[in-house]
Parts: sequence; structure tokens; C-alpha cells
Amino acid sequence: MGAGPAGLMLAAELASRGVRTVVLERDPAPPGYCRGFNLNARSLELLDRRGLAGRFLAEGPTVADTVFTGGARLDLAAMRTAHPYVLGIPQTKVEELLAGHAEDLGARILRGHRLTGLRQDEDAVYAEVGSGEDGLTLRCGWLAGCDGGRSTVRELAGIAFPGTPARRFTLLGDVVLADPGSLGFGVTTGPGGSVFVIPRPGYVRLITADARPPEDRDEPVTLPRFQQAVDRALGRHVELAEARWLTRFGDAARLAERLRDGRVLLAGDAAHIHPPAGAIGVNAALDDAMNLGWKLALVARGLAPDTLLDTYHTERHQAGAALLRNTRAQAVLGEEDERLAPVRDLLAELARFEETAGHLAETITAVNTRYPVPHPTGHPWDGRMVPDVALDGDSLLRLLARTGGGVLLTEPGPHADPLHHAATPWSDRVTTATTPPGALHGATAVLLRPDGHAAWTSPAPTAEAAREALSRWFGPGRASPAA
Ligand SMILES: Cc1cc2nc3c(=O)[nH]c(=O)nc-3n(C[C@H](O)[C@H](O)[C@H](O)COP(=O)(O)OP(=O)(O)OC[C@H]3O[C@@H](n4cnc5c(N)ncnc54)[C@H](O)[C@@H]3O)c2cc1C
Repeated sequence: MGAGPAGLMLAAELASRGVRTVVLERDPAPPGYCRGFNLNARSLELLDRRGLAGRFLAEGPTVADTVFTGGARLDLAAMRTAHPYVLGIPQTKVEELLAGHAEDLGARILRGHRLTGLRQDEDAVYAEVGSGEDGLTLRCGWLAGCDGGRSTVRELAGIAFPGTPARRFTLLGDVVLADPGSLGFGVTTGPGGSVFVIPRPGYVRLITADARPPEDRDEPVTLPRFQQAVDRALGRHVELAEARWLTRFGDAARLAERLRDGRVLLAGDAAHIHPPAGAIGVNAALDDAMNLGWKLALVARGLAPDTLLDTYHTERHQAGAALLRNTRAQAVLGEEDERLAPVRDLLAELARFEETAGHLAETITAVNTRYPVPHPTGHPWDGRMVPDVALDGDSLLRLLARTGGGVLLTEPGPHADPLHHAATPWSDRVTTATTPPGALHGATAVLLRPDGHAAWTSPAPTAEAAREALSRWFGPGRASPAA
């Protein structure tokens, strides 16, 4: 439900695995305005594992640093990633590319279809779409609520959304300046506050605090109201000739109590909302979808038990909590409060150390995401995204992108053949490959999930341990006794 980044990415992930997928979207057409303007290293890493990163990288410039809101500039080269930069790309372009990709893979996107009701039983979910004479009920095996921060799915499923309400509000305006030279790029500070200016082709995006939000926070922002806020912040009049999009957003931070309720799942903003610091929402939405897609496909196709979906909750709820923690920290540090100045200075000082910069950058981009593994061996890849590995005439990333399945990597040696043999019952879901010696950094076998994370690493693997890991993450093998 919902054709934003989460819904479109999830649709592609499902359709690529042969699951009949329909995206229902309330709005009749894609929005005429653009919310986000970036993809971070984590998103590019994920897209790389589908062979898609190049398509997105072709759409905009990359920038090698970012800020931890509150002033610490972070050199992204300090991160452990193949993409140490931020890609400047409009969210509308991200959605356009994802929609095309999902449709190419066979997903259907039905716009102008609003979810109004929902119930489920043991076998199916029944989604009511539209109302009155035009209403219809769709029966589906699973329903993913990717319908944004005010998720109808979340509400209808009765999933609580605890957290903190918005305390501070920000106004955003995509406007045309009467005099294009009246405001330059970056932050302009005045006696009443500051205005952040981002030039866009044909207009500028202005962002300023909403010092006096109305009682009804959903009250539409008008051009005179926005003009007033800009002038008040700058202490002078800067004529705004025309508005393309005006909006208000707050710094609420909420995380759904559970990301799964039976056959209903939540992803993206429907699962978590957070202060806007770090420009991360699109990225978190893609991350959820990449985690959920392969699991839901295995379950929907009857290959794995539905308990696999509980790991989606565990992993992405934990990631959501981390997202809220770091965006809330940034929101506090970004407050216009002089008492915070020494803290900001201290942080900026610490961020000059490469290790600290790397830690902060990996935290705000989620590059350091590590999912829990049942039998950690202390290997640096345990639960983490595995970097690319050269394979004979191939590479790990190309293999993941080509198959969309799991990969069992082994170093050459006497254990390799028995492990590959042990994986035969999963050959429809997992490909085996042998790496050059030393490529696994101390492990002799590594099992990767389709999202590129290491599910199992072992310095001394046995066929039995491999089978246990394979059935845990991919369901029973075809010829195994449990099948
Ligand atoms: C001003 C602004 C600037 C932002 N800038 C950035 C940025 O720079 N970088 C970044 O990463 N993030 C940014 N974000 C956040 C980002 O836009 C969101 O986090 C992201 O869109 C979430 O994706 P999603 O797919 O979960 O939800 P959405 O993109 O909100 O998509 C949900 C979809 O569900 C549909 N829907 C809702 N209800 C129903 C229903 N009942 N039935 C059917 N369909 C329904 C909606 O129409 C919508 O299309 C910004 C947000 C705002 C507001």
C-alpha cells in the first residue's frame, strides 16, 4: 500500500522473485513537488546488490561530506563503504526509477486507489479500497503498509505508534525570488533566526523555523505567511514572487510498536517518523524494503515459514530505534539555543578525529547496520553488509544482482566441496561460490542473505552447521527431511 520509495522498492523485490504484486496508491499521479534530494551510502550499497546503483548515480552529483546537525562536518571518506559520498538526486527521480523498475519486473501500480478498510484472517488480508459505489475489496496473501507517516494500514491494524510529538516546526518553501541575487546558497542568519537556501533549477528551496505555528498544525502554509516568517528571520524584506510548494513539518519521533501484525507489515515512514536531521527518510524506507522483500517472497511462495518475517520486525525495529536516537540527538544539537554552543564545539572538535568522523558518518547513514546473528563468531562481517569479493570470472555483487538469492561463499580447501554439497537442497534459493584464498578475512565460509548481509560466518564450518544456517534463513531445503 503506497507508491513511495518503500512501496516501490518492495514491489520490485517481490516481483523479481515471482510474487504477484500490486501497489495501490491513493494519489492519482506522482506528486508535483519533491520532498527529498539525496541517497546516501547505505542506499547505494543496497542498490548495488541489485545492480541498480549505476542508474541512480547517473542522475546527480556526489558530495564527499555531510554534517552531523549541530555543526560537525563529516568527511565521508572515513566510512567503510564503496560509496563514500551522498548522491544528490530528487526523490521524484528515485520514485520514477523505482516505479519503472518494479513495472519492468511485472508489478502493477494502481494509482487513485485509497485504502479505507482492512481485516485479516488466517489465510488472507482483505483490503477495502475506495468507498461507496466505487469501493471494492481485494483479497491478498499479505499486505505491506508503505503508506507514509500517517499510515492508514498502521491505524487499521491497531499498531501503536509511541514516541514524542513534534515540539518544533519548520517551514519549507519552494519559491521564486523576485530578485534572484537577494539570497545566496547556504545559511543566511538575521536578527530573528536563519534561512537555509538551496538553489534549484528555476526556483530556490527556503527552510526556516516556524516560530509561531498555528493551533492546527495541518493548516496550509500560504505565501504571505511564509513571506512573513522569512522576513522575520532575516530582519529585512526579501520579496518572494511565486510559490511552487509550501509546507510545514515537525520534529516528532515515533516508532511503530511492531512492524508485523499477522499478514500485515509496515515499512518506511509508516513504521517510523523522525526529526528531519540527516535527510534519511527515503534511505530508511529503501532499507526496510530490502530487508522485507526477500523474506516476504520466500514466505509468500511457501518456501519458508512465516516466522522468518519476525526477523524483519526484530532487525528493522532495532534499526528504527537507532534512526530515532541519532536524528533526535541531531535535532537537539541543531536548536537555536546558546547553551548548546559548547556541546556543538566539542562535537566539531571530536569529529576531526577520523575514527569519530567515521563512526558518526556510519551512524547517520546506517552504513554500520549490523543485524543480530544467532551464532556470532566475532568475525567483522557478522550481521553486516559484506563488501564485494572477487570470484572466478565474476564478483559477489554481480552474483547477488543476477540471482537475487542467497550466496554461500567458501574459501578453497577440503571443507568447500562438502559445504557446497550440503547446500544442494537450497540450490533454488542459494548459489555457492569459491573465493580466492584469504578473501573471507579469517572465515572459511560465509552465508549471505539476498540483501547482502552476512547471516553466518564460520572459521571451521561443518555441513551440519551450514544446513542449520541455510534452513534458518531460507526455509527447509527441497530434499531435506523437514521439507
Ligand atoms: C519536506 C521534506 C523533505 C524531506 N527531505 C528528505 C531528504 O532530503 N532525504 C530523505 O531521505 N528523506 C527526506 N524526507 C523524508 C522522505 O520524504 C520520507 O521519509 C519518504 O518519502 C518515506 O517514504 P515512504 O515510502 O515510507 O512513504 P511516502 O513517500 O510518504 O509514501 C507513502 C505513499 O502512500 C500513499 N498513501 C497514503 N495513504 C494511503 C492510503 N490510505 N491508500 C493508498 N495509498 C496511500 C501516499 O499517497 C504516498 O504516495 C523529507 C520529507 C519532507 C516532508
